[in-house]
Amino acid sequence: MSSGKLWELREEVLSCNLCPRLRAYSSWVAKEGKRFKEEYWGKPVPGFGDAEAKLAIVGLAPAAHGGNRTGRPFTGDETGRWVIGGLYQLGLSNLKEGKFRGDGLALRGVFLTNTVLCAPPQNRVRREEVANCSRYLRETLRSLPKLRVVLTLGSVAFNAVAEVLGIDSKFAHGTLIHAGELILMSSYHPSPLNTRTGRLSWNQWIEILRHAWKLASGGYED
Ligand code: SF4
Repeated sequence: MSSGKLWELREEVLSCNLCPRLRAYSSWVAKEGKRFKEEYWGKPVPGFGDAEAKLAIVGLAPAAHGGNRTGRPFTGDETGRWVIGGLYQLGLSNLKEGKFRGDGLALRGVFLTNTVLCAPPQNRVRREEVANCSRYLRETLRSLPKLRVVLTLGSVAFNAVAEVLGIDSKFAHGTLIHAGELILMSSYHPSPLNTRTGRLSWNQWIEILRHAWKLASGGYED
């Protein structure tokens, strides 16, 4: 992130303790629950990407051994391979996969973040935790001056972004809603639960990303 506003937000996020359950779990995983030898991040995981982004992608939360380990969203886990790999296929990422902070990953026109910025147990978040973290979601979207499309992954992210944008709608895969100058899109979350079961195929995922980027970059509009 390069803009001052995003940097300030990052600093604020890093010292956040609003959700004791999530802070305790993220820290515990980083100390006692490790699956990898390397040092874990174990703190809130701020968004990452292009400060001039036209497309924001919002997931659920950092994975305990993914973002919570590496300190960057969609980095070091299977979901991240779909997200970064898909962006790479569209020419929006310089790497096929994000492996660790400092790997040189650079996104073009895209910003990545999560609804909740601390890893939750069993990937399940509570309503009050989403509400707590919505302040950062709102500020992140506000801090991207060129933003045109927000692609949400899964129903929790969709509902959280819809609330931030003042939209009253229910999640469905492929939804596209205009909200003033922004467009809200939704997809099934490319988590192993959906990708390994065939609920979301690679081709479907690429089409969603391609559509979102075309809308964001002014290619065409449905
Ligand atoms: S989930 Fe968000 S609001 Fe809750 S402690 Fe982490 S950064 Fe703070």
